[in-house]
Amino acid sequence: MPVRLRITLMFSVLAMLILCLVCSAIYFFSYKARISNISIRLTNRSITTASFLRQAEAFDYNLIQKIDSLTTNALKNKSVQAFDAQNQSTYSYSDIPGDTMHISQQILNNARKKGSYYFTVNAKDAIAYHYVLHNSDLVIVAAAKDVNGKKNLHTLLKILLLSILIGIIIIVIAGYIFSASLLLPIKKITGDVEVISAQNLTRRIATGNTKDEWYHLADTLNRLLNRLQESFEFQRRFIANASHELSTPLTAVSSQLDVTLQRDRSLDEYKQVMQSVYQDVRHMAKLTQTLLEFAKTSGSAGGLEISLVRIDEVVLRIPSEISRVNPHFRVSVEFAALPAEADKLLVYGNEILLLMALKNIALNGCKYSSNHHAEVLLSLQKGCICIAVKDTGKGIPQDEFLNIFQPFYRVDKNPGQKGFGLGLSLAYRIITLHKGTIEVSSELNKGSIFLIRLPQAESVAQSS
Ligand code: ADP
Repeated sequence: MPVRLRITLMFSVLAMLILCLVCSAIYFFSYKARISNISIRLTNRSITTASFLRQAEAFDYNLIQKIDSLTTNALKNKSVQAFDAQNQSTYSYSDIPGDTMHISQQILNNARKKGSYYFTVNAKDAIAYHYVLHNSDLVIVAAAKDVNGKKNLHTLLKILLLSILIGIIIIVIAGYIFSASLLLPIKKITGDVEVISAQNLTRRIATGNTKDEWYHLADTLNRLLNRLQESFEFQRRFIANASHELSTPLTAVSSQLDVTLQRDRSLDEYKQVMQSVYQDVRHMAKLTQTLLEFAKTSGSAGGLEISLVRIDEVVLRIPSEISRVNPHFRVSVEFAALPAEADKLLVYGNEILLLMALKNIALNGCKYSSNHHAEVLLSLQKGCICIAVKDTGKGIPQDEFLNIFQPFYRVDKNPGQKGFGLGLSLAYRIITLHKGTIEVSSELNKGSIFLIRLPQAESVAQSS
């Protein structure tokens, strides 16, 4: 069922219920008021008749009947009966001759118990009133038709039913208009979102000025679009850079082969070309490998093999890994006042990726310093493991601190040093996947410090 119809229905049902409840309450209290009104009038009639009957020596029954008959206009089809203490009928009067009431013993007893008892008899309202004064003990039963009261009540009922009918029509129309106005912002947001596509990601949803729920929805969607745009932009730049990095050696290979094949060459010349092509192919293979590693770390940690990793063991593997890359590179490892419990050195993560991240940072320390030496210091701080990678190399300008973590970014293109500009961005991705942080501080020509913080496994377990 469409939401608009659902809102209309819910609104209409609720409003109708309230309307019916109010009308029923009006009718109920009017009915009660009519009963109370006729009861007072019949009680007054009973008291008057009882007073006359008590003074029987002054008013004989005929006179009392005459007086009763004179009030015809006030009460229609009136009947009055009196009963003594033995429940014997001692007086009876009726506007219509022969219209006798059959009053049960129980009604008389109820009147004696409660003082005054309301009931209906022969479609008339009736009151049985217990009159006790000096030595007279009477129950007077007065009954009459409340023609005016019932007519008024009937008119009121008709008015209320008509009001309910008109009310329902108004409620349904108002509900339909109300639901349309309620859903209007959603319609606008849907319209805005529909025109946004991958080619058109700069467009945003209009939020309006009132800071209501619709504003927050549009704002949240806009923030999502910002992230999407950034991600698209990142992908686009990444693909362009990767294609460029791959096409350079490919072009070199193809032009070398092209030139070589133009005429016959000596064995030495062929060897030279083969050597150069082999270098380029190795370069491409390494780049492809790095790109694959990069792809592995894109996305969430959900797809990775996660286990408890002893970070000191990972750190201890760095020196041998680095000297395998370049035997002239040297990494020294230092542990700062580590606790006896090995549990404090555990992190949740992927050992291979963590080693890759730390290795990349240490490798840079060796690559960009004249002594080709980097220092790794492991320490513990409140709830986290800190790994500082220091070097005494050429340093990084402060305005490049953020850029160096971007894929394919190299400061001044680093003449003399090989690289794709992917090592730090890969390390950054791996560390953030492990809910860690990387900070860099550096001084030109003095050296750099990369500070990596990883959450301890035990503090992760406590917070989850
Ligand atoms: P690359 O393959 O160029 O080393 P990285 O992503 O590892 O790529 O590093 C990006 C750039 O950051 C490097 O090209 C270099 O200019 C700079 N850089 C990284 N680490 C250091 C360091 N320890 N000392 C000086 N410059 C560094």
